[in-house]
Amino acid sequence: MTKAIVLISGGLDSILAAKVLMGQGIDLIGVTYVTEFLSTDLERYRKHIDTVTAAIGLNNRIIDISAEYLALLNAPLHGFGANINPCIDCKIYMLKRAKDLMKEEKAAFIVTGEVLGERPMSQRRDALNIIERESGLKGYLLRPLSAKLLPETVPELEKIVDRERLYDIRGRSRKPQMALAEQLGIKQYSQPGGGCLLTDPGFTARLEDLIGHGPLTLDDARLLKCGRHFRLDGSTKFVLGRDQDDNERLLGIARDNDIILAPDGFPGPIGILRGEATAANLTLAARVLVGHTKKRADNSVGVRYSRRHDRDRACLRVSALTRDKIDAARVGAR
Ligand code: SF4
Repeated sequence: MTKAIVLISGGLDSILAAKVLMGQGIDLIGVTYVTEFLSTDLERYRKHIDTVTAAIGLNNRIIDISAEYLALLNAPLHGFGANINPCIDCKIYMLKRAKDLMKEEKAAFIVTGEVLGERPMSQRRDALNIIERESGLKGYLLRPLSAKLLPETVPELEKIVDRERLYDIRGRSRKPQMALAEQLGIKQYSQPGGGCLLTDPGFTARLEDLIGHGPLTLDDARLLKCGRHFRLDGSTKFVLGRDQDDNERLLGIARDNDIILAPDGFPGPIGILRGEATAANLTLAARVLVGHTKKRADNSVGVRYSRRHDRDRACLRVSALTRDKIDAARVGAR
């Protein structure tokens, strides 16, 4: 039986592509590449992927490529989409990883759920060609949903795959995919919300601010996913929890040398100061924090602060920063 690798995103298109090829007797191995830039919680996403792949009987693995992926954001060869989404380079990178897996597994080709014209940046005809060529997969990248609109691939030419039983879906309408799902008996395919944060304008603003102030690290990228963000100076940020969940996530993400700020004996958010813990920055952060509590009208409010593992916590007394100054320090509203 011929083996192939299929890239699974968890959306309907990749599940359909897999199901179509399985229906032609191809032995598929699924792979899902994940990064820190997923808009949903990774555990929730894993469960979704496991459910949709199990439903079609696909053996699938999930691989976290966050660390290597960061380099793509520095200077993607094919540029960004409407936000900070380097879609073409992203696809090329994932396909190169899949190509390595193809060799490892002695598979014959790679399958994706890409649909011609479905997305503005990465699924135009020229973009599909670039992705195929630059991933080193010319002739070995089969897109079953649009295959009849694209040049024949090696598995089609060699009659391993019957081109007649592939599809000619194009464009942004989801109707043909829905109809095909119905026909193939696929019911579980809804995405668990969101998708890619690199297409989100608020996240993009926070990420651009980070990239503009030094090298991007995984730790800092992770911090972008929670809290309200404020720029205190060129090397210092303050992140404030929006709710109890956020507060807990921030405490979980905090590094040993971050300063954690919290209201002194009254309800309010937790904040993390990352960077230069100067007196001016600590005061500014404390004033931002007070500005997000019910004591914002008081003249002198206590805010405790310490490093993560310090037993002793110092206390500052400050008043809230005015709303316009808070807004001016804010990066990427959420
Ligand atoms: S939307 Fe995000 S994950 Fe999808 S191709 Fe673009 S950059 Fe990659």
